[in-house]
Amino acid sequence: MRILIVEDEYKLADLIKERLKKEKYLVDIALTGSKGLDMALSGLYNLIILDVMLPEMDGFEILKVIREEEVDVKIIMLTAKSELEDKLNGFKKGADDYLTKPFHLEELLARINVQLRKNQQNKITDYLIVGDLKLNLKTSNLRCIKTNETIQVGCKEFLLLEYLMQNKNQVLKKDQIITKIWGIDNEIESNNLEAYLSFIRKKIKIIGSNVSIKALRGIGYKIEWENEEIKK
Ligand code: CA
Repeated sequence: MRILIVEDEYKLADLIKERLKKEKYLVDIALTGSKGLDMALSGLYNLIILDVMLPEMDGFEILKVIREEEVDVKIIMLTAKSELEDKLNGFKKGADDYLTKPFHLEELLARINVQLRKNQQNKITDYLIVGDLKLNLKTSNLRCIKTNETIQVGCKEFLLLEYLMQNKNQVLKKDQIITKIWGIDNEIESNNLEAYLSFIRKKIKIIGSNVSIKALRGIGYKIEWENEEIKK
């Protein structure tokens, strides 16, 4: 799950980021309104923590554009008490929740978890399946249904597999994958991506699955299942 923090108080943004990282969320920060809007419109995020008073563009304007553009993302607004009353009605229309400053980090975390759980319930999936390969989204366990062998995958491996499996039989571009997993401001080289993919391929092989991650030179990657029975 990827979360965007749009907040110009760097210390606060960083504090939130560090706390969320402990919960295994992937977190990016935007320090200005316009940067925040650009990042929000990328569609990369599951949730946005959006401050109201921001340089260049305020949180309400950003909220309005995100909703007009129909980006599928949960939004929690951060607001000072004095801003709350006049604006409450306005942003209730577009925001999923709000918190008044100052707030406890644990309360923010609880609200985030509620929003993201709601989101997951809508999708009702605990597993992703491609061919004989089953990825448990809660435990990061990868199972081959045919052999019943399992193996644990690491954090980045999990995110990569999840993304590939959600888009099975589709070619995903290298840049697209890197941005999705490492964020917009990444310093990742494409051979880092190759390295993770080769770990995943090994694990898939170890558990005896016929699923493969194909590299299409100069284009990208796709996950697909080679069904032996169909070939025969
Ligand atoms: Ca602010």
